[in-house]
Amino acid sequence: MTEFELIARFFTRPSRERQGVGDDCALIDVGGRTLAMTCDMLIERRHFFADVDPESLGHKALAVNLSDLAAAGATPRCFLLALALPRADERWLEAFAAGMFGLAEQFGCELIGGDTTRSPEWNQTSGPLTICITALGDVVPGPALSRAGARPGDDLWVSGTLGDAALALAFAAGAAAETDDRDACMARLERPTPRVRLGEQLRGLATAAIDVSDGLLGDLTHIGERSQVGARLRWADVPLSPALRRQSAALQQRCALAGGDDYELLFSAPPEKRPQVLAAGQLAGINVTRIGEIVAGRSIVVLDAGGGNMETPFSGFDHFKA
Ligand code: ADP
Ligand code: MG
Repeated sequence: MTEFELIARFFTRPSRERQGVGDDCALIDVGGRTLAMTCDMLIERRHFFADVDPESLGHKALAVNLSDLAAAGATPRCFLLALALPRADERWLEAFAAGMFGLAEQFGCELIGGDTTRSPEWNQTSGPLTICITALGDVVPGPALSRAGARPGDDLWVSGTLGDAALALAFAAGAAAETDDRDACMARLERPTPRVRLGEQLRGLATAAIDVSDGLLGDLTHIGERSQVGARLRWADVPLSPALRRQSAALQQRCALAGGDDYELLFSAPPEKRPQVLAAGQLAGINVTRIGEIVAGRSIVVLDAGGGNMETPFSGFDHFKA
């Protein structure tokens, strides 16, 4: 059973709300307005190493949630923080809070509550440290962005560059690196920038959107499923950082097509909106690149530089796949 089969089978029921399980955010209508809500958990040894810089961890725990709000085109409003801590270490807590509030203040997003417990000791080890944030955002009048709505003929776009966070993990596992490349990729892994401003700009413009957290192909599959479409992607057009360009073709493909933790926005928009999409990127201060198009049917094809079908033995990250 995959993670998504599990969610579909046990936790998906008909929803009375504007949008229930299955997208980056749930959407609920409250007093004539729409609120976007999302919840993401980070667990020690699963999502981060025990010795990770606590300031970065505080930043990332909130950033991954704001990234889901960005995918809905929502404006961050407030969040709840649930913590299971192995111990109360003042210096650690100070740094964690500084990282988290640093990002929160950048987006005017207020911590409004949460829960704090001590995680258990077991087999002479304590933990795991677990951080779960629930974030709420405002959707200004007009439709939110969702994974559904992509239409055949739409362009497929992505923000920033892809694969750097996965490359940081490859470096950590022993791949040879220049120091600058290692630092740049580690920053992408540990302190991702949620594309909130871009998401806001894309409302009314993008036909579908998702944040790339589980790898480009995996997340594109989610758009395909929710929109009932396929996609054609041109590998040569996928934006890569200088650090990733210095790697072998095989590593480039693995990191950019299947690596997780990028937190860029992947979205579709009609070809006649190209100037507006480019303007949206400029206003948000992030490059946006056209990497392919939405097609009829359900297959996702990656074309190589010569226009032939590229073999892609990758799929998105899944917590439960064998
Ligand atoms: P994302 O990567 O955007 O955070 P996920 O892939 O984690 O989204 O989750 C896919 C969808 O399933 C989302 O709509 C999420 O809210 C929902 N979901 C995940 N776990 C559960 C759960 N235990 N109960 C209900 N819904 C869930
Ligand atoms: Mg998401």
